[in-house]
Amino acid sequence: MLDRTTTTESAALYERAKLVMPGGCSRNTILRKPHPIYAAYGKGCVVADIEGVDRIDFANNVASLIHGHAFAPIVGAVGEPLLKGTAFTVGTVSEVLFAEQMIQRCSSFEKIRFVNSGTEAVMSCIKAARAFTGKPKIAKVEGSYHGLYDYAEVSQTAKPENWGNVDEPSSVPVSYGTPQAALDDVIVIPFNDTERALSILDKHKDEVAGLLIDLLPHRIGVIPAEHKFVEALRKWTSENNSLLIFDEVITFRTNFDGAQGSYKSKPDLTAMGKMIGGGFPVGALAGRADVMDVMDPTDGPAKFPHYGTFSANPVTMTAGRIALQWFDEQAVIRLNKLGDMARNAIAEAIDVAGIDACVTGAGSMFRVHFKAEAPHDYRSAFMTAEESAKLETFLNYVFDNGLLLIETGTGFLSTPMKSADIEKMAEIMLEGFRKVKSVH
Ligand code: PMP
Repeated sequence: MLDRTTTTESAALYERAKLVMPGGCSRNTILRKPHPIYAAYGKGCVVADIEGVDRIDFANNVASLIHGHAFAPIVGAVGEPLLKGTAFTVGTVSEVLFAEQMIQRCSSFEKIRFVNSGTEAVMSCIKAARAFTGKPKIAKVEGSYHGLYDYAEVSQTAKPENWGNVDEPSSVPVSYGTPQAALDDVIVIPFNDTERALSILDKHKDEVAGLLIDLLPHRIGVIPAEHKFVEALRKWTSENNSLLIFDEVITFRTNFDGAQGSYKSKPDLTAMGKMIGGGFPVGALAGRADVMDVMDPTDGPAKFPHYGTFSANPVTMTAGRIALQWFDEQAVIRLNKLGDMARNAIAEAIDVAGIDACVTGAGSMFRVHFKAEAPHDYRSAFMTAEESAKLETFLNYVFDNGLLLIETGTGFLSTPMKSADIEKMAEIMLEGFRKVKSVH
């Protein structure tokens, strides 16, 4: 087991980092107590830190590295754009090639534009929906994470003391200083509760430009959206001149054509990011041609003028195209089977440890909950202080013993993983569950 006091190099680096960055970092994601660790290198599904400790990586830079680290076909392909110029104020062939590939991948994609992050993709979908419908508001699911845009982040961290009545959840800001006007323009609906969601939406039917939903929302517990819920939202949006927007920034990994491949209802727009960049910064929005054309300035001014200095740069476009070429139908099926194996192995470890916990997830994602029963919405997924303490004990244990997971207890698989990695994960987790049982 790693002796935390021997991680002197990381501790010293963090002291320097705190002097020059708020919190000592550029993204809060890397923080952990007593200090973050720093990567020396990653290879496949393993990350080595500067202290020389290896961990199996189930965080994968928050689900963005579908092929793990330093995937040879991507490393081989990005050399050329690095040598020939990484960004231009003219087009590149790489952009057209990747756009063509993405359009072929999913039936709801008629046109696509690339951006630089998931946040930007979601923001662009919302702005496109407003421009297309001429309406001001968006609707979103309570607790869903969609990035940092003022409107998209509303109620992402709502708490029992401020989330309000479930019949009409409050619009709760994440950042201090969020304008009241932004909050007023976001309608919050409960997850998988069709009746309540429709009755809330009906009160705003003339104002909702778009309804934003993640089909497998990680902050809500990595539980799938019910088919009847999605179908009802599809029907409601179609009948009320409102767009249905899927956030597939993480879930696009679930099928060859995204999580939407499992549903009958198709979105008007889809936001993507993370794995479609092959390890480089990326975002994309794709969907109905007539909606996407609000960004088209070639026949009169665009209703939604859309720019981005590094959007569709050739390094990202090349890496993304190669990453998705290798994440073909067979690779998706194989990884999802490994996901089934991981969820079963975790459930078994929970059983053997005899602890009140459960595992949720689908495809190549899982989440551990210190709850006897799987949650069904944000409010039931919300962790009590005791559950948070248990999760912290668990995460510290598995981290010290060779696993990288997300702070919510969520894990994402990558294609270099093999069943031996899953078995190892389950072994470490079993001891982690035992540790929780002995401490709490
Ligand atoms: N939507 C979802 C579902 C996400 O998980 C994330 C990032 N975790 C985002 C949007 C924002 O993406 P990015 O961090 O690339 O801005």
